[in-house]
This record gives sequence, structure tokens and C-alpha cells, in this order.
Amino acid sequence: MSEANGTAPGGGSDEESQAAEPITLEDLPLRDDLRGRAPYGAPQLEVPVALNTNENPYPPSAALAAALARNVEEAAAGLNRYPDRDATRLRADLAGYLGHGLDGRRVWAANGSNEILQQILQAFGGPGRTAMGFEPSYSMHPVISRVTCTEWTPVERSGGDFDIDPRTAVQAVRRNRPDVVFLTSPNNPTGTALPLETVAAVAEAAPGMVVVDEAYAEFRREGTPSALTLLEDHPRLIVSRTMSKAFALAGARVGYLAAHPAVIDALQLVRLPYHLSAVTQVVAATALEFADELLGQVKQLRQERDALVEWLRANGFAVAASDANFVLFGDFGDRSAIWRGLLERGILVREVGPPHMLRVTVGTAAEMSRFREALLQVSAEHPA
Ligand SMILES: *Cc1c(COP(=O)(O)O)cnc(C)c1O
Repeated sequence: MSEANGTAPGGGSDEESQAAEPITLEDLPLRDDLRGRAPYGAPQLEVPVALNTNENPYPPSAALAAALARNVEEAAAGLNRYPDRDATRLRADLAGYLGHGLDGRRVWAANGSNEILQQILQAFGGPGRTAMGFEPSYSMHPVISRVTCTEWTPVERSGGDFDIDPRTAVQAVRRNRPDVVFLTSPNNPTGTALPLETVAAVAEAAPGMVVVDEAYAEFRREGTPSALTLLEDHPRLIVSRTMSKAFALAGARVGYLAAHPAVIDALQLVRLPYHLSAVTQVVAATALEFADELLGQVKQLRQERDALVEWLRANGFAVAASDANFVLFGDFGDRSAIWRGLLERGILVREVGPPHMLRVTVGTAAEMSRFREALLQVSAEHPA
């Protein structure tokens, strides 16, 4: 292979032609367990109506954008210094937002809840250890497990409507003795929230850490509880949250968790020094000051979601009950055809979860009206 390059027009020394030799991933001394893997990626296509990654459709208000600019400008004057390594103010603010008697010592923050999950697995998973999850669920749980060399054990959701049957879950935990259990509630991509009894039963049976990924907590329906209420009695329980969805801050990368202070001591052993930039910290704290405004939009999205579920049912589609800002719907004989048909009409949804279903994020009222119109057209062209 190096011979071919040596004869390239223009010549050059041997060293130069060697440096120019094309290198592919295959040629690099990559870790064996990463060979042949594809990077995580929901398609990021430019479309008029993007309903594929569960983002909040409402951009920050002018008032929030102005406050962000002001506070970032102030922080900019100190950017020659490293940030507060412990993000003390932000953690206290997040604890205040969560309530439940939490304080900053029981909250930890990172660059998106994906980094939170990675730090959890770095501290509690790793070579020779296992993590368990109930599928279909968030695809990053197995991905981050693998990247941290933690063996992944999937268990099927066996309850009706994508629920987790607590007895099956406890049996699976007793049988496999995983070091980390992931419970996603409300679950992505199904929208299913877990009763507290299920979380508590798993937490009692689990020999290791139990992570409740509550990325969509703010979207749950009235009366659906949060696992935050269980923290007091379960020191190995972790509740992870994000500002990417309800707080409409996916671009800022802020995730956080609540847990026993000892858990946070453990995470400080694996976090990179100064992992959360001063800019990120001030952006997150500023957004928290606008919590009321942002949660008002969440209420609107919840109403839009409930209306969408009703409309889908009324029009003969199968729908999973949703406590999140998205809905899993079907049944399609050829879901790829439906996905493409919607895309041709400028609407991007996600081909994920059970093979006969699609996931649509709840957008603005105008976006959902375009979605409904397009779905009727496309599904008439492709009867199940
Ligand atoms: C979107 C999502 C996240 C959020 O990830 P960030 O890194 O905080 O943007 C975490 N968990 C689940 C289940 C999600 O769907």
C-alpha cells in the first residue's frame, strides 16, 4: 500500500509520502472492543419540522437570552481562571429546584446527563462489572456501558404497555446481580413511567447502584411520582436529570443527579478536573432563575402531548401511554416507508423502538398540526 503513494505525481521525500498515506480507522490500533462500532447518531437533517430528538421546540425567550448574555459577559471577565471545580453555586441552585429537602451536597452536575451516566459507570461499573437495563429503553445506556468496559445485560419489559413487571425485574436483579441497574422513568422511547413500588422493589433487591434516569420528569402526568422521594431510604439510589428537555437547553449540555453525599464523593474520583466550564455553570444557573417561565411551556407541551395521544387513538393508531414529551405510535407494516413519507413532507420523526412503531417528539401546536395532516396522507398511502 505504501508503494502506491511513493509514485504520486510531484514526488517528495520518502518521509513525506509516508505521512500522506491515507489512514482509515481499520489501520489504527483501536481497542478491540470498539472495532466495527458506529458512533451514536440520530440523523441531524435540516428539515422544517424536526420531531426526532425530543428537544423542546421553544427557544429561550428574549428575556432569558438577554440574561444569559449579561451573565456570560460577566463570567467572561474571569475566564483566565479555572472554574469552580465543585460547581458549588449551581449544585445548590439545582437542589433548590428539585426540592425534597435536598441540598448541594446531594446534587452533582456535568456536561449533559450522558456525562453523568458515564461518570456513574466509571465509578461503579468497569471491567469485570455489569450493568442491567429494561429494553426497549434509552440506547445510550448500553453504549456508555460498553465504552466504560461494563458488560451490558438487557432484560425485556414484560409488563403490558411497555411496563416493567416488578416481580420479573426483581428476579432478574437477583439472578444477575448487576453492579448498576438502569431504570428509565418516564422511559425513552416508550413514554412509560414506573410506579414507585417498582423502583423501590428493584432498589431493595439490587446489590449495587440503581440509577433512575428521569430525563423527562417534568413532563409526567399529574399524580405520577418521582423517585426523588425514595432517596432518603435508599443510599445506593441515584436520580439523574437533565436541562436538555424541560429547560430547553439541549445546546448548553447540562445534566445533574441527586443521591447520597457518599455517591458524590465517589463521582469526584472519576470526574475530570474542572469538567464543567464557568460558562456552562453560569448558563445553567441563569436558566434556573427562569424555571417558572420554562415550566409554563412544559405545561403547554404536556397538553399538546395528551391531545396528540387522543388524536392518534381516535384515528386508529396504536399508542403507548406517555409521561414524556414524545409519543410512540404505530402499528406499521413498513415503518421505514412511513418515516420516509413524513420526511418527504418536511417532518422528521425517529425510527426507534419496536419494529412496527415510530417515535414523534411533541412540538409546537403548528408543528403538530402539520404532523397530523402528513401522517394521515402517508398512512393512507401505506396501509398496515
Ligand atoms: C435525552 C435523554 C437524556 C439527556 O441527555 P443529555 O446528555 O442530558 O442531553 C438522558 N436520558 C434519556 C433517557 C434521554 O432520553
